[in-house]
Amino acid sequence: MTEPRPDCAVAHYHEIALKGGNRPMFIRRLTDNLRKAVQGLGKIRILSPRGRILLYLNEETPWPILSERLSGIFGIANFSAAYRCPTEPEAIEALVNRLLDSKTFQTFRISARRGDKAYPLTSMELNIRLGRHVQEKTRARVDLEQPELTIHVEILQREALVYFEKLGGPGGLPVGVSGHVLSLISGGIDSPVASYLMMKRGCTIGFLHFHGYPHLTKASLEKAEELVQHLTRHQFESRLYAVAFGEVQRLIVLNVPPPLRVVLYRRFMLRIAEEIAHRERAKAIITGENLGQVASQTLDNLTVIQEAARLPILRPLIGFDKDEIIETAKAIGTYPVSIQPDQDCCRLFIPPHPSVAAQLNDIEKAERNLDVSGLVKMGLETVERMAFTFP
Ligand code: ATP
Ligand code: MG
Repeated sequence: MTEPRPDCAVAHYHEIALKGGNRPMFIRRLTDNLRKAVQGLGKIRILSPRGRILLYLNEETPWPILSERLSGIFGIANFSAAYRCPTEPEAIEALVNRLLDSKTFQTFRISARRGDKAYPLTSMELNIRLGRHVQEKTRARVDLEQPELTIHVEILQREALVYFEKLGGPGGLPVGVSGHVLSLISGGIDSPVASYLMMKRGCTIGFLHFHGYPHLTKASLEKAEELVQHLTRHQFESRLYAVAFGEVQRLIVLNVPPPLRVVLYRRFMLRIAEEIAHRERAKAIITGENLGQVASQTLDNLTVIQEAARLPILRPLIGFDKDEIIETAKAIGTYPVSIQPDQDCCRLFIPPHPSVAAQLNDIEKAERNLDVSGLVKMGLETVERMAFTFP
């Protein structure tokens, strides 16, 4: 027998993450985000009776697509396909009967929760009553430790919900509660992961990519576009700024000693980023930098790079191992795009021995040979803006 179509989705969030006075705002944001996430799936009513969020489905809602969308919504700890009935124990038993027709199992347990404390039975009494009922109907055994099937029952004020499997959400905070940031996205493995982690902490993200045009192709930009489109499923709309950096790099190369180039590229990227961050009203700049991985990412160099910007630079991957970053990239689906070959502008005019311990004095001296604001302006004049939406 096939499973009956679910009446609703019930989603739970981590209570602790949402404690305190901000809670109503968090829940409002989460429901707003869900409203965007379910676009195109028919009319879906969304409610938030204490401690949970309900999405009432309609005839056309395809559960597999809805489930896929919910699995990308930050703030959701877990969710389930659920069935609704009146709160009387008889009605719950009748619904359970109907649902169990399509299931075979040897062991089970009931896990009842009361959202409505005025309900005449305690959770324990309900567990016992429904457990006995299921036992009589199916001859299956109760196993509280490792049941094959858990039958979840939630009593709300006006209705009861019955559901089985809890599917994992991504956790974190609803996108939008933590403000807007600008993420420097290369075509590499790290920066998409860094962006993902900041969204997970509730940020909305604007993206900025530097490509090596006209001295390289725009292949890295195509990857950045694909990555941004992929990440947009968590925030529903994104802007990507693309800056042609090749000519700025060439002028740096002409005027500064080779070992300092990499740090200088980075400082110019940041200066351009800061201008775009102002346009975007972004409160911080995000990078995928990670301590000690490559020459540009020693503590000395990170410090000297940071000096070029006034906005805070957040580096969510700073303490990660490369293995951990790759694992996350695979889990969030960005890895296959990131490993495609491209022409990364950072490898343009790279000297054989980049400095690993740049000193601010030397860097500032080198920059005196450059028209700093002119180069920033030159980069900004090439900026293109692209928009992405999901679904
Ligand atoms: P990634 O995998 O993100 O490219 P990486 O380990 O290769 O990181 P770098 O190439 O040194 O490290 O870059 C460090 C960070 O600088 C990146 O994570 C990204 O935030 C930023 N960055 C580097 N190149 C670009 C680029 N072409 N456009 C935008 N941001 C960049
Ligand atoms: Mg890179």
